Amino acid sequence: MTDSFTTVRERMVQEQLRSRGVSDPNVLKVMSEVPRHLFVDDAMQARAYGDHPLPIASDQTISQPFIVAAMTQALQLKGTEKVLEIGTGSGYQAAVLSRLCEQVYTVERINTLLAGARKVFDQLHFYNILSRLDDGTMGWQEHAPYDAIIVTAGSPEIPQPLIDQLADPGRMVIPVGDRNVQELQYVTKKDGEIEVQRLESVRFVNLIGEHGWKND
Ligand code: SAH
Repeated sequence: MTDSFTTVRERMVQEQLRSRGVSDPNVLKVMSEVPRHLFVDDAMQARAYGDHPLPIASDQTISQPFIVAAMTQALQLKGTEKVLEIGTGSGYQAAVLSRLCEQVYTVERINTLLAGARKVFDQLHFYNILSRLDDGTMGWQEHAPYDAIIVTAGSPEIPQPLIDQLADPGRMVIPVGDRNVQELQYVTKKDGEIEVQRLESVRFVNLIGEHGWKND
């Protein structure tokens, strides 16, 4: 994809991702291609490739490019996976995932955001993304199990339905902590055993629902 942001995107990949140790060639390639500026408001397009998160509608945020890259790389996608994302938001993370796996299922609780994301998926002809308006802390039972799960909102604990809907073997990345700061956890399921590894400190908006924070 070539557009007026091609050079800026290339620079983002060099200066924010490669230089900080993101090394999966497929992740780097996809992030140099997916037009991140289409996932933010027109007025913010010029800032879309900056080294920071950006506000989207309904007081939510699109994650910093490095965080999207780090979480995506952690999932070690080969192209054949079914991936569940909780927290569609702008749709950017789902769009990146969709170029690296077979099918993305993404759940969002705020209708305006979901509608906006769907519009961009259609515009880009990214047809392997199925989305749904619901409480994502319940997962999406209908299409389970998932080879990989990514949660892009901070939770007090790992929602049990997500553990149940993770394939065996399977892997998940999720920010777990209090309302202001979380640690990114890398969770694996193998032979029925759950293992949790702690990655870096992160700040995400709250995961709100039955198995997350109970209110805004
Ligand atoms: N992945 C997004 C980041 C969005 S921010 C992107 O690339 O832009 C986190 C999102 O999680 C917000 O849109 C918020 O509304 C959503 N969210 C919070 N709790 C949720 C829940 N229980 N189910 C689904 N989505 C939820």
